[in-house]
Amino acid sequence: MGVLAGRTALVTGASRGIGRGIAERLGRDGARVAVHYGRNEAAAKETVAAIEAAGGSAFTIGVELGLPGDAEALWKEFDRHADGLDILVNNAGIGSARPIGEIDEKEYDRVFAVNVKAPFFLVKHGLPRLRDGGRVINISSGLARTAAMPDNVAYAMTKGALDLLSRDLSKVLGPRNITVNSVAPGIIATDNTYELLHRSEGAWADAAALSALGRVGETADVADVVAFLASDAGRWVTGSWVDVTGGSLT
Ligand code: NDP
Repeated sequence: MGVLAGRTALVTGASRGIGRGIAERLGRDGARVAVHYGRNEAAAKETVAAIEAAGGSAFTIGVELGLPGDAEALWKEFDRHADGLDILVNNAGIGSARPIGEIDEKEYDRVFAVNVKAPFFLVKHGLPRLRDGGRVINISSGLARTAAMPDNVAYAMTKGALDLLSRDLSKVLGPRNITVNSVAPGIIATDNTYELLHRSEGAWADAAALSALGRVGETADVADVVAFLASDAGRWVTGSWVDVTGGSLT
């Protein structure tokens, strides 16, 4: 029996990339997983199929984030499938790689709505469902703590804001024995980074060289850390910013 047997997890943005990796890992560890997606239902169903093929249990929830009422709509859909929650992973996010001179208000509002406002209200409206002893894990970014890619300023700002949510929420939820942490990946090969990693012949090698370990990260590199925090083994880690950049910040 897996270490998360009997627990229910919600992973936002679990149709693809890092979220899929996390959902599959938590499913393997025995959690029943709500696989959230925005538009790509087919990909979310593939995540569910992969979890089931490995002997786990999962279901999909499709709700576009970044729109008014998004969090309440998501929980309403969640409630149709499950009775309470143990692990909330705020993973869904979008990038913004334009320099400050080129970002307009629409793009700024959108990246904040998806990356900051949605997790904030998902937590707010999720609290009555989150059981004591639970976990909140917010997927941040190494860019919250490095200016290595200054054109990502708006995106980096969203992750900085998310980190403050993790920090302050850890105090709010500590009395209920709920831990709250940020997990900050470096460059991970996903759809999100495809352009960055393929924009020139040497782009992949350049990205790999940022890491002390000399390679580009894989979704499992992040999922394994999330699984640790989600498990009983992570019970004494809260209010923390976990560097999962493969040593890109040193
Ligand atoms: P991907 O683009 O590969 O996947 C994004 C996921 O989020 C998809 O499941 C997508 O759903 C969902 N999503 C995106 N926007 C919305 C929305 N508006 N409403 C609902 N769902 C949405 O991203 P990654 O896996 O690369 O990134 C995941 C997280 O990790 C993000 O928060 C990102 O900022 C962070 N991160 C990523 C890094 C990387 O190098 N890849 C590095 C550091 C942090 P659908 O399939 O339906 O579109």
